[in-house]
Amino acid sequence: MIELTRRHLFAGAAATALVPLATDGRAFAAAPAAGKQAPGFYRFKVGSMEVTVVTDGARTFPLADNFVTNVKKDDVNAALQAAYMEKDKMTIAFNPVVVNTGSKLVVIDTGNGPGAFEQSKGAVGQMHANLAAAGIDRNSVDAVVISHFHGDHINGLITADNKPAYPNAEVLVPAAEWKFWTDPSKSEGNFANVKRVFGALGNKVTQYEADKEVVSGITAIATPGHTPGHCSHILSSGNATVALQADITNHPALFLRNPGWHVTFDMDAAMAEATRRKFYDRMAAEKITVQGFHFPFPAAGHVEKDGNNYRLVPIAWNPSI
Ligand SMILES: [Zn+2]
Repeated sequence: MIELTRRHLFAGAAATALVPLATDGRAFAAAPAAGKQAPGFYRFKVGSMEVTVVTDGARTFPLADNFVTNVKKDDVNAALQAAYMEKDKMTIAFNPVVVNTGSKLVVIDTGNGPGAFEQSKGAVGQMHANLAAAGIDRNSVDAVVISHFHGDHINGLITADNKPAYPNAEVLVPAAEWKFWTDPSKSEGNFANVKRVFGALGNKVTQYEADKEVVSGITAIATPGHTPGHCSHILSSGNATVALQADITNHPALFLRNPGWHVTFDMDAAMAEATRRKFYDRMAAEKITVQGFHFPFPAAGHVEKDGNNYRLVPIAWNPSI
């Protein structure tokens, strides 16, 4: 065994530096940096179903004082740093999925929409390009299932020029969500966006109820709090089950670790917290893989209980499906 001391290493490095790189005068040009990421999609199986997580991108923004409404920013920063993330900054990822059930091609949530691509300088609104990269034709999609009506989930229903992005698909929406957001007496904020997006579809939607199959193999469960009609979806095929949680929590490093923390986006924070504890208790007990719309790509893992909190054990990239 050769023992290398620091002294030997430094002496070696110095000696190497003196050796000319090429003796005939030629030098290799520096390779240009690629400067951009690869198309983002990731596949896994659930029984005989094939799931493709198709990223819509991610947004990074300064951490607002009230990003978590019931704790101090210092505590949020401490949690970010405990997860080796930068403080005073938040990155939120957007991860819609496509499910090939064997008989139907189903998109679940649609991202920020291609209209957001230019405006965000390509940070978000990537889903349609990533679908194409994954070999999925929007015209072949049979159904689009929506979890709730925030813009990052519905805006991709339409193209940048306000045409249906999935022209041959039935658009399935939670009945409670439809009722809440189409209240004719409201017109501000997200109410206006809902009107704009579904208006472009001629309001042609099919409303669905929780605790029923929306598409064969895909069952909706009511997970209210984030929004009044928020639904998650359970995929099951054979013995395999995966839960698509949508927005039960935002980033797991903050909100699985601290399920009592209330993200500013939760409309009824107390209800959202009760929903999340109940949901994760079940996921942990039944060891169900959870896919989270806002989890870091590919946005799936197992939830473990940790006292009154939880932690996510992300799935490992698998070269085969
Ligand atoms: Zn969301």
